[in-house]
Amino acid sequence: MSDIAVLVVGGAGYIGSHSAKALKNAGFLPVVIDDISAGHAHNVKYGPLIKANMNDKAAITDAIKQYNPQAIMHFAASIEVGEGEKDPLKFYKNNVANSIALFDTAIENGVKNIVFSSTAATFGVPQSKYIDENHTQEPINTYGRTKLMVEKILIDLGKAHGVNSAILRYFNACGADPDGELGEEHNPETHLIPNVLASIAGRRTMLSIFGDDYETPDGTCVRDYVHVSDLADAHVAACKYLIENGKSIDLNLGTKNGNSVLEIMQAAERVTGLPCSREICPRRAGDPPFLVADSTKARQTIGFNPIRSDIETILKDAWNFHKKAWNI
Ligand code: UDP
Repeated sequence: MSDIAVLVVGGAGYIGSHSAKALKNAGFLPVVIDDISAGHAHNVKYGPLIKANMNDKAAITDAIKQYNPQAIMHFAASIEVGEGEKDPLKFYKNNVANSIALFDTAIENGVKNIVFSSTAATFGVPQSKYIDENHTQEPINTYGRTKLMVEKILIDLGKAHGVNSAILRYFNACGADPDGELGEEHNPETHLIPNVLASIAGRRTMLSIFGDDYETPDGTCVRDYVHVSDLADAHVAACKYLIENGKSIDLNLGTKNGNSVLEIMQAAERVTGLPCSREICPRRAGDPPFLVADSTKARQTIGFNPIRSDIETILKDAWNFHKKAWNI
């Protein structure tokens, strides 16, 4: 019997490509749909690439007819929070309108299992130390609002059309494929870990630390960093959950361990053996001081087990990838 296909929409991007690899390793055929506007064709190595936007009804219909996928993993989105504030319509079009088009085509063609990339940004300002799935969702930026809208749409599609969704809310995705085949390549890069490593590698003058006067142990912001390969495994587990149980679920994916900006920088110095030049800058708008997940539900329902998410392993894998990508 041939492998069960899964459409991986946005599978040429960072988390999508790692998830395509995890699907392949678990015996599925990942069929990537990506318009390569933000992702990279060189990340598509584990199954076919169909170069199309998710709103391309004809291309997605053809892909479903050809491969008969049992599920869709939906990663495609505009993700840079600052850009969303400057150009909200781009975010509402890409993240909401195009998701509606994708779901429309999926339902019309009988694909009813959808794993959706959501985000801790849907919660807004944390009201409790650890954020579980019952936390209120009041996003404070356009990006978070677009993701929350799609969550709500999926719930309605569940009621009206029997769509089963797994809504996966990432905290801070980071690290790289342990085999060095894939990694983080955003353009422009705004995320902390690649920026720390770029400073260490001399590819940027200095790391800007956005604020050291927060009410945290060392004054810098604390985040819950999760290895991208652990997130990829969670996608496969969520996909199996949908196929086997035929019911929807929403899960927060983190580790319940927080690391500050300074701790990340110091760990990077340890792992690389090189110093990181840095400067303290003003706070970045919209950054909560402390954002850490309670992922008990994910552990209990899909067996989420973030085994690579200790900070040394994350930095070792990220550095391994970047050294190759940057010819160091
Ligand atoms: N950060 C920083 N310098 C950078 C990038 C990020 O100090 O060049 C901080 C940022 O203010 C936040 C943390 O690092 O407190 C993680 O930021 P990132 O953009 O990686 O992820 P986010 O938490 O915004 O999803």
